[in-house]
Amino acid sequence: MSTLLPPAQKLCVTQTLAKLSLAKLDNHDALIILVPESLSNTQWDTLPDGPKLQNLLQRAKKHGTKKRIRSHLGNDSATSITLAELSNTTDWPESFELLSIARQIVSEALQDKPVSLALAVSGFSSAQTVELHKALLLAAFAIDFKMPVFRSSKNKQARLKKITIFGKTPAKLIERASIEAESLNLSRWLTALPANVLDAGNYRKAIRSLAKDNHWQMKFHNEAALKKLGAGAFLAVSQGNARSDAGIVHLKYRPKKVSDAPQLALVGKGIVFDTGGTNLKPFKSMLDMHEDMAGSAVALATMLALSKLKVPFAIDCWLAITENRSSAKAYKSRDIVTAANGTTIEVIHTDAEGRMALADTLALAGKKKPKLIMDFATLTGTCVSALTDRYSGGFSNRDTLHSSIIAAGRASGERVWTFPMDKDFDEELRSRNADVLQCAVSGGGDHIQAARFLQRFVPKDSAWIHIDLSSASRSGGLAQVPGGPTGFGVRFNLELLLDQKILAGLKN
Ligand SMILES: [Zn+2]
Repeated sequence: MSTLLPPAQKLCVTQTLAKLSLAKLDNHDALIILVPESLSNTQWDTLPDGPKLQNLLQRAKKHGTKKRIRSHLGNDSATSITLAELSNTTDWPESFELLSIARQIVSEALQDKPVSLALAVSGFSSAQTVELHKALLLAAFAIDFKMPVFRSSKNKQARLKKITIFGKTPAKLIERASIEAESLNLSRWLTALPANVLDAGNYRKAIRSLAKDNHWQMKFHNEAALKKLGAGAFLAVSQGNARSDAGIVHLKYRPKKVSDAPQLALVGKGIVFDTGGTNLKPFKSMLDMHEDMAGSAVALATMLALSKLKVPFAIDCWLAITENRSSAKAYKSRDIVTAANGTTIEVIHTDAEGRMALADTLALAGKKKPKLIMDFATLTGTCVSALTDRYSGGFSNRDTLHSSIIAAGRASGERVWTFPMDKDFDEELRSRNADVLQCAVSGGGDHIQAARFLQRFVPKDSAWIHIDLSSASRSGGLAQVPGGPTGFGVRFNLELLLDQKILAGLKN
């Protein structure tokens, strides 16, 4: 289990109302000072070595556009200082930009591997200060987190252990940021694990251990059970595997004194490695296909965050876990299979396995008629073509939810843009021999057609949001997260569910 789940990130966050002084700095290896452009001379004077800092910053700005400096001040302990300036008058940055700025500042401050970091945000409005504290904390948790490595020599580096906020920020916000970051890091970690470590069987073990620690009920529908349930779409994908360890995991979070009927179902695509199947992918397209389970990691991490935040509603989480392999047993183009809700599907392209695995998983999740079903999947290349890897795509069977989806993306910094999914997009999915084609033979708009395909497996009574995770991984990093798997979706979900309270507006 040691490599399957990330080691606990022992990062303690405290806050103090003590005045920031040179003497106080002796307890910290590094300090971040964030000030507005408009800071007055008297305000500069209140900062440790303020006039010197002001001077250094002015000189740096004269020699270029840099609004950040690193320095050591007059204290003997040689605390490194990262000073950054931010405009607080015009164009106050949106969450995404704020988190990106926070990543740059925190990356610089962590260069010397400090064990203790102090944060001082000075001269901003109280609302801005709280936003900045949150962005800096999220960035520190993301950058300090060590992604899985398998080197033979263990490199024991000093880790960041303590963050002290000089100033006041609500304790609830610190707790929420820590839980968000921890869950997001779990998603990044699982997505980064190679497929010979996180194979279907080990993934299930890791989930079982999380379920035990967090008091979730867990049921695993193995291939024999899925056969009984008629889940022919999922099984079409898993039949090509060498081992029969694939299946659909069902987790239940039930707070005390709450009825068993789930308000929310989280559904995730967990293809632990995607070769494309019989329609094999070329080398470069297949290289990082151990990340094709990112959707399931996001669903699982969202479940973890909501459960740690002790939300008062019942949640189901459904994870479709399998490989997609080429083998003599693997499914083929023009095969016809029947899904758990009776829909017959004509297979076109075996690399469109995600929608096959999700079809049955959505059908199972929908049986319990949750108020809202949300699914997450690295589903289509056309979504990346449409949005790049900076945004993810959003779809819903309720047009009225589009504005909330976009707003939650803006507010969380995990940006989502919505697409239409009118009925006439079904024309491309018309099959002569079955109820529906798995995907179109040619032509664009696969992300929209995939959403139309998936909608067939969702009950009309449940609101449904489908997120095509085009930004699940980004080599240059995204917002506060450094390069690699982004964990994108976890913070978006929390914003949508807890801040926008989307469930309250939905009928059962
Ligand atoms: Zn695929």
